[in-house]
Amino acid sequence: MKFIDLRSDTVTEQPLFMKEAMFNAEVGDDVYGDDPTVIKLEALAAKIVGKEAALFVPSGAFGNQLALFTHCNRGSEVIIADSNHIIAHEVGASSVIAGVQLRAIDSINGVLKAKDIEKRIRFENEDIHFPSTSLICVENAHSSGNVLNLDEMKEIYDTAKKYNLPVHLDGARVFNAATYLNVDVKDISNYCDSIMFCLSKGLCAPVGSILAGNKDFIAKARKKRKLMGGGLRQAGFLAAAGIVALEEMSKRLNEDHDNAKLLAEELNKLPEIDVDLNNLKINMVFFKFNDNSINTKALVNYFLENNIKINDVENGLMRFVTHYWISKDDVFKVVNTLKEFLSKR
Ligand SMILES: *Cc1c(COP(=O)(O)O)cnc(C)c1O
Repeated sequence: MKFIDLRSDTVTEQPLFMKEAMFNAEVGDDVYGDDPTVIKLEALAAKIVGKEAALFVPSGAFGNQLALFTHCNRGSEVIIADSNHIIAHEVGASSVIAGVQLRAIDSINGVLKAKDIEKRIRFENEDIHFPSTSLICVENAHSSGNVLNLDEMKEIYDTAKKYNLPVHLDGARVFNAATYLNVDVKDISNYCDSIMFCLSKGLCAPVGSILAGNKDFIAKARKKRKLMGGGLRQAGFLAAAGIVALEEMSKRLNEDHDNAKLLAEELNKLPEIDVDLNNLKINMVFFKFNDNSINTKALVNYFLENNIKINDVENGLMRFVTHYWISKDDVFKVVNTLKEFLSKR
């Protein structure tokens, strides 16, 4: 059965032309370095983000944690916004894998200010009580739907460089950020030393993310990927989808952003709904009901009966995500179904 699935852009199944590329992929054993399609994907990905080298990894969380594991010594400290995925949604992995401490900054929508970073930087030899800072992390696009502009990225990067610290960018949706800013993705990744981005979200690949950085960093990360159990064999079937994701799917994200805007406008017409228009930048619409009597659990069920999948509220907000499989007609069907639900209460 076909559902309209607004829960996330991770639900994007593969279009036929992507499946065909996967079916026809030339493969080898990538742990031996023999898979030509993985090699091609990694070279393409590195070029697109303007880094020397790249590594195919199983997931976004894997790529982020591998970055921390590669950049940081155990017991060191990573400065990061408290709302970032690495701290909020990766099961505390950084304490288990890299063995680092996360020093959270209470930021607004992931924006880190130079003064807030500087206040927290601590050095080896400064005081025997202090862990030393080993990395600064930034997330763009941010999970709130915000996009950090190039000045905001530069401020973080320049601050890090002033203290000789590396910057890791969690760019799970960096192509959405670049689309919103109308810049080349390189213009964003220019302000980091390593970047992770997902092929498996709005870009429609079934599995996989990329970690990119300089050659030395990626060589170290390749070995640690093996340690983490992420050495894959005939991964070329997945990499073939990744190549299509980069070459074709990354160029159409403005359609998803337009549909998100349309959805937001239509939802905002309903008196019971307040859309967060400040964070309407990518393919996500955040809103709340201004009427406490609305039972969102009942709404989730009502939508499901109408073949629409949504998540329940999180932190008081509903989130609808548009993607390759959400059309303009689907947007209107969603809004009409919501109107029906509200009128039947
Ligand atoms: C989804 C996401 C990740 C993790 O990606 P997975 O492939 O789900 O592990 C990391 N960071 C951000 C900002 C994300 O949105």
